Amino acid sequence: VIENFVELEKLAVLGHGNGGTVYKVLHKSTSSIYALKVLRFNDGSDGVRRQATREVEILKLVDSPFVVRCCSVFHNSGVAAGDLSFVMEYMEGGSLQDLLKSQKTLSEREISAVARRVLLGIHYLHDMQIVHGDIKPSNLLVNGEGEVKIADFGVSHLVEGGGVAWNLSPDSCMGTCAYMSPERFDPERWSGGDGFAGDVWSLGVVALECHVGRFPLTGTGQRPDWPTLMCVMCFGERMEVPETASPEFRSFLERCLEKDWRKRATVDELLEHPFVN
Ligand code: ATP
Ligand code: MG
Repeated sequence: VIENFVELEKLAVLGHGNGGTVYKVLHKSTSSIYALKVLRFNDGSDGVRRQATREVEILKLVDSPFVVRCCSVFHNSGVAAGDLSFVMEYMEGGSLQDLLKSQKTLSEREISAVARRVLLGIHYLHDMQIVHGDIKPSNLLVNGEGEVKIADFGVSHLVEGGGVAWNLSPDSCMGTCAYMSPERFDPERWSGGDGFAGDVWSLGVVALECHVGRFPLTGTGQRPDWPTLMCVMCFGERMEVPETASPEFRSFLERCLEKDWRKRATVDELLEHPFVN
């Protein structure tokens, strides 16, 4: 546990996200490297503030080898009034998004390993009644051993008493909406849903993206804007799984990308699937 913010020295910027910046930092007294995420919410944005508060509550509860560890949380760390900072385990391999940028695609063997770890991470979170809600390549990080872990609980919800009322205001979609499940997108058509099945959908989109080397749900390969994605989700056909995928992989993808969340595979079912075993 890092007690004092001043013991940290910023070495580099690792990336920028919504409402924050991630730095590579040195903890001077132990010479250890960490990642520091600084969220700024002194601009009066309630959305970011709410996100941050949620993130802290959830981070404090989470302890799994499949989830990026948060070591300390600082309020008002001095960068700006109202800041909130998290010291996290440093994931030196960067994100799956970085990996896809440099390698374009992953082999099925690699995708299978990623999918297995993400499933184990989601399984752990769901057991704690946590819906991640934002599974996407930039939130899947790789450590020095090449192990993938889930990061970022910015839009996660602690599911209290079952049933999440998804808030579809722009606040709840601060990053990209591209990995969102149909039931979150269009709750009226795909009524119900407790949120858990949405994480499975997102994993399916990520796995397919790793195979085809571009965002898979639109013909252009670009991450779509809201109206385009709405059309794909509501009027599009069943997700097209490419012929190049092995039968096991195709079956895995089809079980994740089932539009009706009631028919979609559960995490338990997928952990038994031949593709990840
Ligand atoms: P969003 O704000 O929607 O989550 P994002 O995931 O791109 O978008 P951040 O979570 O702020 O934004 O992360 C920015 C980048 O910083 C990531 O894409 C990743 O490359 C890097 N990063 C984040 N956390 C770590 C970490 N613990 N170790 C190493 N790099 C990290
Ligand atoms: Mg992120």
